Amino acid sequence: MDKTHGLNVQRISQQVEAFFKNKKSFRIFHGATNSTRVLTFKKDEIIDISGLNHVLSIDSKKHTAVVEPNVSMDTLVKATLRHNLIPPVVMEFPGITVGGAVQGNGGESSSFKWGTFNQTLNWYEIITADGEIRTASDKENSDLFYATPGSAGTLGILTAAEITLIPAKKYVELKYIPVHSFEDAKNIIESIHKNESDFVDGIMFSKSSGVIIVGQLTDKATAKIRRFSRAHDQWYYLHVENTYQANPQGWTETVPLTDYLFRYDRGAFWVGRFAFEMFNIPYTRFMRWVLNPILHTRKLYQALQESGASQEHVVQDLVLSSESFVQFAQFIDTEFNTYPLWLCPMLPDTKALFQLNNLKTESIINVGVWGSRIPVYDDFIKANKVIEKKVLAIGGKKWSYAHSYFSEKEFWSMYDKKLYDKLRIKYHAESLATIYDKITVTKRHPIQKRKAVLKTLFGIAKLKIEK
Ligand SMILES: Cc1cc2nc3c(=O)[nH]c(=O)nc-3n(C[C@H](O)[C@H](O)[C@H](O)COP(=O)(O)OP(=O)(O)OC[C@H]3O[C@@H](n4cnc5c(N)ncnc54)[C@H](O)[C@@H]3O)c2cc1C
Repeated sequence: MDKTHGLNVQRISQQVEAFFKNKKSFRIFHGATNSTRVLTFKKDEIIDISGLNHVLSIDSKKHTAVVEPNVSMDTLVKATLRHNLIPPVVMEFPGITVGGAVQGNGGESSSFKWGTFNQTLNWYEIITADGEIRTASDKENSDLFYATPGSAGTLGILTAAEITLIPAKKYVELKYIPVHSFEDAKNIIESIHKNESDFVDGIMFSKSSGVIIVGQLTDKATAKIRRFSRAHDQWYYLHVENTYQANPQGWTETVPLTDYLFRYDRGAFWVGRFAFEMFNIPYTRFMRWVLNPILHTRKLYQALQESGASQEHVVQDLVLSSESFVQFAQFIDTEFNTYPLWLCPMLPDTKALFQLNNLKTESIINVGVWGSRIPVYDDFIKANKVIEKKVLAIGGKKWSYAHSYFSEKEFWSMYDKKLYDKLRIKYHAESLATIYDKITVTKRHPIQKRKAVLKTLFGIAKLKIEK
């Protein structure tokens, strides 16, 4: 492997070993985050891996890429496209990293075909908590290989991974299929065959109107070309909503590949509209054009971390068997009336122990519930807990990027704690925080919206490191 990479990994492993010898816990710092929890770091408790951000090699014959964990999705796609290849699962936010997508969660509209991001990887290089550098794959340290996805860095630090690649095409041809109920949406999703399509997701605008969007990689533009990455382009979900109103019978369009992959970047799906509400800015196309530089997900996340505004908005992604999807969507409609809802089917993965799509079912539908403001903190927590209770009751799971208020007992009822504890002993990770500790919100942070805007505008907002 690359010499500089080897030296950097050696250096990090020595730091990890020092923490281990002192029986001290550390936290992984990688410079940015797509988590909505407010993160603060203490200088003497971090291992900084933000420099591990290189694509190490691409093998265009074997269709593989070896990358460092802090490589973001846009960097990865740019590098693989030079070989006319792409990763089969590219998360929609360009700033999501390889390491974060494996150790947190990572999935998108091709997950109905390929599963979550980790299901497309062949092996990882990982530094376990004793400082040892190990390789994990289906053949070597396979327990670590299957326990790492979703474990939030609590079994070790991912320092490299080999990703499978597939041939790229110039465009994605999108077919929009109208649906008129949750049942309808589920039936259409289940009717799409993974050998015939490349992407499937859906947006429900109300309980009786929505579209399922089916994509196909293609080199030929057969319908009108639409783009979503330029300042003057319409935000993707607004384009879909407006076009649906004009074409209630459905339509087809062609989108250049990278515009498709990162179509939800501007406005972070529709979460970016909350910033307009917060500052009483007219939610017009003109204002979205003016403010475009700060409405991409990287900037929105900086503002979110600085402002603490995530403590007033219920933003959750829930993973459900498709049998319980309709019940859950109806529950959200009755209790919250939150729209739009994002639907994303996924392949289950019963091998990855702590990954959210480890459900015993044939098919999964992920629901993005990204709701409006609940200003009273107790009500905000209550709303999150109501969703958690419902998801537990119907056998679902929830994404770890979000606020989590489960009791420890509730949390571990979803995962095999005995096995987790056994692996923590085997890989010397007992002094590190557990997954539960890492994702549970125990503290409210001060809300500082105006300061956040100024810092974000001038580009100096970043994850806080305290002395
Ligand atoms: C509205 C909304 C919609 C979203 N939609 C999607 C979506 O469609 N698809 C999707 O995939 N994601 C989506 N996300 C975000 C997503 O869930 C995760 O946050 C993301 O996959 C990981 O991002 P990250 O790279 O910033 O990692 P982080 O969130 O910073 O990290 C995740 C965890 O992994 C740990 N970690 C990071 N790197 C390493 C490493 N090298 N070794 C060990 N541990 C490490 C971190 O400490 C942390 O515990 C959405 C989020 C929001 C708010």
